[in-house]
Amino acid sequence: MDKICSFCGKSDIVKKKVQYIYKKEDKFMVINNVPCDECSYCGERYYHADVLKQIEREFDDLVNGKRKAKIEVAVPVEEYAELVS
Ligand SMILES: [Zn+2]
Repeated sequence: MDKICSFCGKSDIVKKKVQYIYKKEDKFMVINNVPCDECSYCGERYYHADVLKQIEREFDDLVNGKRKAKIEVAVPVEEYAELVS
């Protein structure tokens, strides 16, 4: 049985590996190659609950200093009202 996209109702769901950005308060974590199901019609992505739990645990470990991320990058932060271009 094909899965149906609960967003647009089409059944064009494909397995993909994508970049996932986890955000909690003012902190971000980027995880590459996260498995998900993506609707090829509207682009809605569906993640397995276990995948999301694992990402959350990893994030907590990083925030609590239990683990260090493989790569850390500085992210520019701007206020929209102060943009000049
Ligand atoms: Zn869809």
